[in-house]
Amino acid sequence: MRYDYAPDLKNRLIEIVKTLDMNHIDLNRVECLRSFGSSTKRTIARCHTIGKVMQKGMKIPAFYTIEFLERFDKLNNEQQDKVIIHELLHIPKTFGGGFRQHDFVCEDNINNLHRNLQISRKNKSFFV
Ligand SMILES: [Zn+2]
Repeated sequence: MRYDYAPDLKNRLIEIVKTLDMNHIDLNRVECLRSFGSSTKRTIARCHTIGKVMQKGMKIPAFYTIEFLERFDKLNNEQQDKVIIHELLHIPKTFGGGFRQHDFVCEDNINNLHRNLQISRKNKSFFV
């Protein structure tokens, strides 16, 4: 497996976090990586974190890494936005090192946020 920093995806994530006012996301403690060589064919992206015990032991606050697999770059822009929203929804409001599960990270919530994203983008560009 190879992992590269993905500053382009980090910028897209920042735009989405700011546009959707996801203020619980600490943008200094989220990083985006592209991974190459995974044998998982179905996975597009996944969210990683370090547990509370390791945070305490290392004396560092929570950190989240979102890994984008090769399949991600083949999706269209709208699908990619939805994947980014999906991964962001896994990060809980506490930003404490755990995850929200797929009962919350579901089609309905993703689609609602994606709709809000499109509306907010339109409204913003209207005033530019
Ligand atoms: Zn998920």
